[in-house]
Amino acid sequence: MCKKTYWNEEFETLNRCDLEKLQVKRLRKTVGSALDTSFYSKLYEEKGIDVDSIQSVDDIRKLPFTVKQDLRNSYPDGMTSCKKDESIRLHCSSGTTGQPTVVYHNRHDLDSWANLVARSLYCAGARPGDVFQNICGYGLFTGGLGFQYGAETLGALAIPAGAGNSKRQIKLIQDFGTTVIHAIPSYLIRLHEIFLAEGIDPLKGTNLRLFVIGAEPHTEEQRKKIETLFGIKAYNSYGLTEMNGPGVAFECEEQDGLHVWEDAYLVEIVNPDTLEPVEDGEIGELVLTTLDREVMPLIRYRTRDLTRVLPGECACGRTHRRLDRITGRSDDMFIIKGCNVFPMQIESVLMKMPEVGTNYLIELVTENGVDEMYVNVELQAQCFSDSYQDLEKIQNSLVSKIRDEVLAKPKIVLLEPGELPQQEGKAIRVVDARDS
Ligand code: AMP
Ligand code: ZN
Repeated sequence: MCKKTYWNEEFETLNRCDLEKLQVKRLRKTVGSALDTSFYSKLYEEKGIDVDSIQSVDDIRKLPFTVKQDLRNSYPDGMTSCKKDESIRLHCSSGTTGQPTVVYHNRHDLDSWANLVARSLYCAGARPGDVFQNICGYGLFTGGLGFQYGAETLGALAIPAGAGNSKRQIKLIQDFGTTVIHAIPSYLIRLHEIFLAEGIDPLKGTNLRLFVIGAEPHTEEQRKKIETLFGIKAYNSYGLTEMNGPGVAFECEEQDGLHVWEDAYLVEIVNPDTLEPVEDGEIGELVLTTLDREVMPLIRYRTRDLTRVLPGECACGRTHRRLDRITGRSDDMFIIKGCNVFPMQIESVLMKMPEVGTNYLIELVTENGVDEMYVNVELQAQCFSDSYQDLEKIQNSLVSKIRDEVLAKPKIVLLEPGELPQQEGKAIRVVDARDS
C-alpha cells in the first residue's frame, strides 16, 4: 500500500483533542481582534463579552450570530480591526443589492488563505508540477486570485485563464499541457461540447487528469456526468467570500464529503429557524467562525448554506470533519453561471422600467447542458398596441441592465398583462427547473 501524503501533515492529521485546543487558542485571539472592530466592540460590550468569556469551543454559543446584513451595514470597513492599515487586498461578494460585502486581508491573511487553497488542491490530488488552469473570473470574485495564489503556493504552474472564450481555453489546455482545471460545474459541460465541436477528444488529445468544481450548487449526478464525459475525476470545492473564498472545505481523493479546515474555521450547524444546534449528522445551516484571520475576524457567520456534518472518520487519515455537499440555502438566493443572484436584484431592475407591469417570473432551465436564466416579464398593455415600436429596445435594455446588476446574462421574454399565472398566496418568483 502506498504511503499517504499530505500538504501539511501536522495540521491535517492533528488529533481531535489537540485540534480543539488549537481552536480555543485561536478563537480567543479572534475574539480579541473582534473587540478591536467598531462592529463587534459595541455588540460585545453591550453583552459583557470579552476574551475570557471563551474557555472552551462550546463557549462560542455565548456570542451572537453575524449575518450578511451586518457586513452591508458596516460598509465599507466597519468590521475591520486595528490591523486595517496593514491591508493589502480586498474582495467583494457578488449577489447583493445595494452595498456589497467587503473583506480586507493583510499579508498574514493572504498567506494563510493561499496555504489553505494549496492544502485543498493537494488533498484532491493536485501536485507540485501540475499545470493548473483557472477558468473563472478574476477581479473582485475570490475564485480567480484565490486559486491563483493557492496553486502557486502548491508549486503548480498556474494559468490565470479567466472565464469564457472556450476555444481559447482549449488552446491553452493543449499548448501548455494543462493537467488540472478549476471551473464551475455547468461550464465544464459546455466546454465538453466545444471540445467535440472542435473534433478534439479531451481524454486522448490533452493531458487533463483532474477537475476541481465549485462555486455553485451541484448534485452527485452532475459530478458523475462531468466525470463520464471527460473520463477524469472532479472534486468538490466549497467556499465563500466572507470566509476568504475557496479553501474552506474540499473533497479529498475519497470523494466522500468535504473536509472543512477546522484549524482555520470553527464549524456549527444550526436550525435556521431556532438557531439552536442540530443533532449530529442532521442537516441545518452552516455557521462559520474565522480562526486565523487578522484584519476581518468574522464570528458565527450565518452562511445560509444548508448541509450536515458527515459521521465517522475519513479513510484518507485527515482528522478534520467532513461536510456533505450543499443541499440548498435557507434564503432565496440562487446561483446561475457562478453568479449569486437574489430575486430582489432582478425585481429592482424591472420595477425601474416604466414599461414593466407588475408580474414577472424567473425560470432557471438547462438547455443543451447549459443553465439559462429566463426572465418572463409582463409589460403594460400599451406596449402591445399597433403603434408601439419599442419592444426590441425594451428587451435589449432589460438584458443589459439585469446583466449589469447580477453579472449573469438573462434571456428576456416579454408578455402581455395577465399571461403569467397569478398566485393566491406568496408570489412565486423563481422556478428552478434545471436538470440537476
Ligand atoms: P461567493 O461569496 O460569491 O463566492 O459565493 C459563495 C456561495 O456560493 C456559497 O455561500 C454557496 O452558496 C455557493 N457555493 C460555493 N461553493 C459551492 C459548492 N461547492 N457547492 C454548492 N454551493 C457552493
Ligand atoms: Zn478524506
